[in-house]
Amino acid sequence: MFLTKNTAVLKAHLASSSGQSIGFVPTMGALHAGHISLIEKSLKENDITVCSIFVNPTQFNQAADLEKYPRTLEADITLLEKTGCHVLFHPEIAEMYPEGTAVNMRDLGLITQVFEGVFRVGHFDGVCEIVNRFFQIIQPTKAYFGLKDYQQCMVINAMVKSESIPVELVFSPTQRDANELALSSRNRRLDEAQYKDALIIPQTLQYVKENYGKQTTETLLNEARQRISSKTKVDYLDIVHAETLQPITSLNEPAVALFAGWVGDVRLIDNTLLMG
Ligand code: AMP
Repeated sequence: MFLTKNTAVLKAHLASSSGQSIGFVPTMGALHAGHISLIEKSLKENDITVCSIFVNPTQFNQAADLEKYPRTLEADITLLEKTGCHVLFHPEIAEMYPEGTAVNMRDLGLITQVFEGVFRVGHFDGVCEIVNRFFQIIQPTKAYFGLKDYQQCMVINAMVKSESIPVELVFSPTQRDANELALSSRNRRLDEAQYKDALIIPQTLQYVKENYGKQTTETLLNEARQRISSKTKVDYLDIVHAETLQPITSLNEPAVALFAGWVGDVRLIDNTLLMG
């Protein structure tokens, strides 16, 4: 695997294989099977796969969260090499933000103004900024994102459309552990009791999926919120239109249930698509 922290070195390396398709998988490291599923998909669909590991400071709205974010570069490199990833780009902050960490504010409409946009103000400005910078450097043919970060997929899609960025986005299903908990780098911060509590998240989302359309959405949400709040501190649990993330007006529309909440001091998100 070709490793570099340096933008110019990365560009030169990629220029030497011009004409080949590039698949790009941006990550913040502490890699798990969810990330690896994206790398594997990219390896199948492209000539060259580039993974980035960069804990992006501009998408954290709490300094403590940024500080506590797990960093496991050596183990990540071993895992990427085993998977057959071709290139790892792991820049320092100054490499990605040479002029400081002020970010461009983008107007991508309502999609950025709900859910994570409310609970993590500025989060999507930081996400869009870094993904945009990576796209400019790497110029990927395809870029891979996990549906676990559902709203992030919709926001990046909106940015790519609004700025006419020439990349094909691929959104990939959420990978879960044996107990259906969505894999997340943050899960390693859960102790045994917290891990057990966190299982209420996939259990409740499954309950919502099974019962969607069988009772009023309001009743279903009330029950589900009651269940999930027995073990987590809920930021939101809602059912909305799967593309706009705005309220649904009929069961025939594509819908998604979105959750975010806390187990101890660990914030977890998850979601499930619904069939009316
Ligand atoms: P992160 O390192 O958390 O920024 O995630 C990097 C990419 O991996 C994002 O596109 C995430 O949506 C994706 N990802 C994270 N967890 C999972 C998962 N459990 N299943 C599938 N993709 C995931």
